Amino acid sequence: MISDVAYDQNNIFAKILRKEAPCFPVYEDDMTLAFMDVMPQAEGHTLVIPKFPAEDLFDLDPEYAGAMAKTTKKLAAAVKQAFDAPGILIAQLNGAAAGQTVFHIHTHIIPRSNGIDLKLHARELADFEELKRHAERIKKALG
Ligand code: AMP
Repeated sequence: MISDVAYDQNNIFAKILRKEAPCFPVYEDDMTLAFMDVMPQAEGHTLVIPKFPAEDLFDLDPEYAGAMAKTTKKLAAAVKQAFDAPGILIAQLNGAAAGQTVFHIHTHIIPRSNGIDLKLHARELADFEELKRHAERIKKALG
């Protein structure tokens, strides 16, 4: 572990990793977890997090950075297929000044289509039954 001095063990993604908070999971391996964003900016908005206590990229163990990139690539392909998305936006925000609101590093995987604007960031809670269905679509695309 590099440093977890500033890391808040009670942030919501740390709670999800400890299974103290619920999520709609789509993929998990030894080093990463992927689940649905509950305030999606587009249908299929998925998050990938490392199982490592890092606030942002600067705190992240390089091996976990690699694992995150690998999972993000795998999930981006599945999300693209599941939502028939012509484009996929990958975003990863570092620091409040960059717009980060949850301080456990994560990548956003967001389907994009021409002419459809993104919804506002972390604003509107989605219908949970719909998120469940979206998670199933992604899991099916993962095979
Ligand atoms: P960021 O602003 O890059 O830190 O993004 C945090 C993301 O986490 C936002 O897109 C939120 O909608 C999302 N989010 C916040 N709480 C939860 C939660 N409990 N489960 C899933 N996604 C969440």
